[in-house]
This record gives sequence, structure tokens and C-alpha cells, in this order.
Amino acid sequence: MNRPLVLAGAGHAHLVTLRNWIDRGFRPPAGTLLVNPTPAAWYSGMMPGLLAGRFSAADCAIDLAPLCRACDIELYMGKIQALDADARSLSLTDGTQLDYQRLSLNTGSIPPLPEVRDNSVALLPAKPFPKLHQTWTAWQQPTSTAPTCVAILGGGPAAFELALALRASLPATDVVLISASRLLASHPAALIARAQRLLRQRGVRLIEQQKITRIYHGQLFNGDQPLLLCEAVVAATGASAPDWLRGSGLAVDTDGFARIGKSLISTSHPEVFATGDCASLPGALRSGVYAVRQGAFLADNILGQLQGTALRHYQPQRQALALLATADGGALMSYGRWVASGRLMGWWKDRLDIGFMQRHRISLEQTHGHRH
Ligand SMILES: Cc1cc2nc3c(=O)[nH]c(=O)nc-3n(C[C@H](O)[C@H](O)[C@H](O)COP(=O)(O)OP(=O)(O)OC[C@H]3O[C@@H](n4cnc5c(N)ncnc54)[C@H](O)[C@@H]3O)c2cc1C
Repeated sequence: MNRPLVLAGAGHAHLVTLRNWIDRGFRPPAGTLLVNPTPAAWYSGMMPGLLAGRFSAADCAIDLAPLCRACDIELYMGKIQALDADARSLSLTDGTQLDYQRLSLNTGSIPPLPEVRDNSVALLPAKPFPKLHQTWTAWQQPTSTAPTCVAILGGGPAAFELALALRASLPATDVVLISASRLLASHPAALIARAQRLLRQRGVRLIEQQKITRIYHGQLFNGDQPLLLCEAVVAATGASAPDWLRGSGLAVDTDGFARIGKSLISTSHPEVFATGDCASLPGALRSGVYAVRQGAFLADNILGQLQGTALRHYQPQRQALALLATADGGALMSYGRWVASGRLMGWWKDRLDIGFMQRHRISLEQTHGHRH
């Protein structure tokens, strides 16, 4: 079967797109399919809160079946292994082949990982999230033992939030945050100072300007220099592109991300859209905030292409609001040069996150309302 439209990955941009189509009563052509490895989409903004014990797993995941049903599209649980953009065909890890007329990629990114030479240390990428969540859940069981030391790799907001979250939920574990650069380097100095103070107060050890490149014999190494003995590593090291994009025939940038123009369309294949972390567009950063903003443009532009109407140009915002959860209901905030912190900022972050979940979670009544 040649699908009129395949939506690959239930990323932030696709969730926004589906909600947008439901609200305006648009239904994509029959045979349209969403493919995603899991039945629910995890919302990364709330993951640190989940690991801090502030949210349940159900609070942080959006069931895809009701969303797809309300939009009259099919849901297929699968993982893309290869894309042949010239042949307009996707291969999934279960052997399924999906041929399409139009494709929209929103499959996110994966953190770059150090080389692992043995299984002496548990290496847990922050994404995909289910494995980290499963391991963390096991650590919480009275019958299992949490690691005596866990290292979080990364120097951005996600690594900072995860370090504080693990500190809060693993009181007997040494938590060490290791950043290849300066911590939160792209943020104002006042926010960095507050973040460093918080880490000190909570007993999280911070090691900066050390890039962990190898793990073996229970140790983390920067090149040949041993840095830390530990039992588990959580990698929140930023974004790398999946291998299958590089070999797809799509135009990609030097890091392997799909090159797109302002209409969110591949610069090489006009029937392919790409948004969020897997896409490369000058000025667009790899964060949920940017992916969410792109979602509204994607909804319009897929529809525009299907109906032959004008496409909109997405202009990445010059600066974005950053709210970093501090695992106690508070948050650090920066917007441009402005910095603030405390409970009110945490309340604001929770309102934004919970609001996103409520908007994209489709209830049974809404699905029924649409069907009758
Ligand atoms: C712990 C943590 C906290 C974060 N907090 C924030 C925050 O507070 N604010 C913020 O702006 N950003 C945050 N980020 C960054 C944010 O997660 C990403 O930038 C954002 O998720 C990118 O969204 P996306 O739309 O590209 O796709 P994602 O939301 O990453 O979703 C991609 C989807 O594609 C699916 N997928 C992946 N591979 C395949 C495949 N091969 N085949 C089919 N489907 C696939 C995945 O299962 C997933 O459902 C955080 C990141 C982490 C790790």
C-alpha cells in the first residue's frame, strides 16, 4: 500500500499538528499513518520531575491511540531502521516496509554516547526515556540496591535537572555531574551562579570541562585519564542524529540532521517535511520549545501542500524562555538577560507543562464526540 502521508515519530511537533487538525476539523487523507515505537509519547519537560518523585509516569505520557482516532489516522507501533528518500520508502525494524507519497519526520534525537568497552557500568541515555525510567524504578524497589555512585554526563538544562532529580530520589547515592564545557554555558552568568550554588547545597559534585569519552573497568575516562569510579551513567549530552538519516539520500548537514527550509520541507525532497530535533534549520535550536512552535507551522504546511495552497514560513524565535526544574517544586528561569528563581518559577513551569499535557491528551468523550 502506498500511504498518502506517513508521520514518523510522535514528537512534540506531531502532537501539536494532530491537535491542530482535530481543532479545525481537518482530517488527513485515508491511509495516513503515525509510526512510533511506543503506544505513548513521553513529555521530556516533565521527566526530571518524574525522577524527582514529583509526577507519576501517567502524568508524563500522552496516549497516542485516542489522538490518532480523533484525527482518523492509523497508529503503527514500529521503529524506523532505514529511509530511502528517492524510492519514498521506510523500512522498520520489524521488517515492515512503508511506502509513502508524503513523509513528515519528527523522530527527535539521541544523546551522543561515550565508547563502552565492557558492561562494568550501566550506561543509560536520557532518551529514549523508557529504559532510564525502568532502571530508576528498579532502583526505588526495597529489594534492589541503588548504585552507590551515579554520574550524569552533560552541561545543559536536561543534565542539570536530572542531577538534582536523582539527588532527590536517591538519598544514599553519590551524584556527580560531569560537563564537557562550562555548566549551562549559553545562559546568563547570574543563572549559572544560582545553579552552581544549588548543586553545592544539595551535595551534587560538579566536574566541568571534562569530556567522558570511554567507559571500562568501572571507570569513566577522558581520553586515557581516569576520572571517576561509578556504577551508573546517565547521558544527557545533547543531540545526535540517527544513523539512518545519513544514509537516506535526504540532504543532511555535517552532523547528519535533515536540512530543511523555512517551510519545514527537506531542501532535497519536496515531499518530505522534518521538524524538531531531527531537522537542521539555521537559528532553530534543538529544544522542545522550538519543536512545539514548529508544530503549528507543520500543521498548516502539510495541509497547504495537500490542498495546493500557500505555505507559511517559520522564523525561529531569537530567544526562548528557559525554566529549569530544581526537583523541589522550584525552578530557575532565564529569558535573554533576565534571571529569576524560586517556587513561583516552579509553579509557572508546572502550569506550562501540565497545560501542554492537558491540551494534547484526548479523552474518550472527545474521541466519541468526534465519531458520532
Ligand atoms: C531530560 C530532558 C529534559 C528536557 N526538558 C526540556 C524542557 O524542559 N524544555 C525544552 O524545551 N526541551 C527540553 N528537552 C529537550 C527536548 O526533549 C527535545 O528538544 C524535544 O523532545 C525534541 O522534540 P521532537 O519534536 O524533535 O521529538 P521528541 O519529543 O524527542 O520525540 C521523538 C519521537 O520519535 C520517536 N522515535 C524516535 N526514533 C524513532 C524511530 N527510529 N522510528 C519511529 N519513531 C521514533 C520517539 O519514540 C519519540 O516519540 C529535554 C530533554 C531531556 C533529555
